[in-house]
Amino acid sequence: MDLGIAGKWALVCAASKGLGKGCASALVREGVNVVITARGADALEATAAELRALGREHGGAEVRAVAGDITTAEGRRAALAACPQVDILINNAGGPPPGDFREWGREAWIKALDANMLTPIELIRATVDAMAARGYGRVVNITSGAIKAPIDILGLSNGARSGLTGFVAGLARSSIAARGVTINGLLPGAFDTDRLRATMQGAATKTGQALEAVMAKRSAAIPARRFGSAEEFGAVCAFLCSVHAGYLTGQNVLLDGGAYPGTF
Ligand code: NAD
Repeated sequence: MDLGIAGKWALVCAASKGLGKGCASALVREGVNVVITARGADALEATAAELRALGREHGGAEVRAVAGDITTAEGRRAALAACPQVDILINNAGGPPPGDFREWGREAWIKALDANMLTPIELIRATVDAMAARGYGRVVNITSGAIKAPIDILGLSNGARSGLTGFVAGLARSSIAARGVTINGLLPGAFDTDRLRATMQGAATKTGQALEAVMAKRSAAIPARRFGSAEEFGAVCAFLCSVHAGYLTGQNVLLDGGAYPGTF
């Protein structure tokens, strides 16, 4: 299927690794020019080189890399400045740490809200009206399956991402909906990325088990009996950004191998 987005420009935040990289790769395969960001310049440049090689195989998409923290105003300014126009915005950033809410003061909450609620909102604010003026725009917020099925120790994530989801539910249905702009959430369940492995390693160390044993037990609890891959996450993201998904807005698409137990 031709997704109809070759030649568009996408800003893909936090994309040197994991799910962000999966989204950037899928877009580059479709001929979309991308600006990717991450904090560490080395990993980011390595990913940019990979994506440029991919671009040469798929219609010559341009790839620009901007090192910086997307949760800061300066990081966002640099990322936006590198993108001639933002037709597609993929919001992503690292997730907040787990813990007990009794230990989280105002500072911990502000940090989580900055990263996982206010940063995406700032980037939407900076881009959505120009998208609407051009009659086409796609915003995909990478959030978490935890907004549907909250995990107690991830309270900072549950709270901040639910705030973003609630805000976006209203914005997606505002006047921009009639002007070609869609905004959706893409909710990962368990995906095999560095972050997942780091979390599993923490559990393995705590319980004295091998990492592989903890991962096997975790994946056995998923109806698909496996973790998701960044490639399949990226493929769904690219479809949400396609011309074919113009009537799909204000939704939260869960990708979790069947882990969520509800009918809806
Ligand atoms: P990852 O650790 O594999 O990759 C994260 C990427 O984001 C890296 O490229 C890193 O450099 C970049 N990054 C992190 N913070 C940044 C910042 N402030 N500014 C710029 N770049 C930044 O993580 P992942 O597994 O791809 O997760 C992506 C998001 O999805 C996270 O918010 C995570 O909490 C969420 N999530 C992941 C899973 C999963 O199973 N992997 C499940 C639910 C939610």
